[in-house]
Amino acid sequence: MSSLPDADGSAPLRDGDHASGGSAPAPVPAHAPASASAHIAPSVAAREVHIALGANLGDRLGTMRDALHRLAAHPAITVVAASSAWDTAPVGPPDQPRYLNGAATLATTLAPAELLAVLLDVERALGRERTSTRWTARSIDLDIVLFGEYTVDTPDLAVPHPRFRERAFVLLPLAEIAASARDPVTGERVESLLRACPGRSDAVRMGPLGEFPAR
Ligand code: AMP
Repeated sequence: MSSLPDADGSAPLRDGDHASGGSAPAPVPAHAPASASAHIAPSVAAREVHIALGANLGDRLGTMRDALHRLAAHPAITVVAASSAWDTAPVGPPDQPRYLNGAATLATTLAPAELLAVLLDVERALGRERTSTRWTARSIDLDIVLFGEYTVDTPDLAVPHPRFRERAFVLLPLAEIAASARDPVTGERVESLLRACPGRSDAVRMGPLGEFPAR
């Protein structure tokens, strides 16, 4: 049995918490011991994951950097790359402040549902208050955009993120660090999804989110 993706990462997910009809990466303990040289459990292949970050309340840049440092401190996560921060117009209710958005590439041995739980923990730790209204102002939002070339479709998690293809505020930073990453649903690469995406002109590139992997 192989629960790992092929070299091109094209296997869908298998197991209870993941996609229909496919194979899943073997779940790994959320707190697997770190090796001396990398924050990855040595016996399980890490998968490349791309996440999106957003904030439009408080110290937007500081909170996003804090989120990345918290993720980097997790024993089963390495932050491989981080994009620039992009100042963008809000999507949804118009009477909210502009967003700062970014993207990061992680290497992780966690299963998708485990990684989502970590992201939600970090959001809570950084003061995110959830409301029943979608797309309202938030101190921090962390989404899984791509999980290798796996697909996930459960009540709690959809990967690729269902709306990332039409969101310039996701694709602009993602294209800086993962232009050739492939959307397993459409087969398109991030760079071509960005070319087809409206709403790019309003975004303003700011400084880097931080230096990752941290020295
Ligand atoms: P929001 O903070 O508004 O983006 O919503 C977060 C909720 O969306 C989480 O609690 C997840 O259960 C759900 N969700 C579904 N797909 C994803 C995804 N790809 N990344 C993050 N959250 C997701």
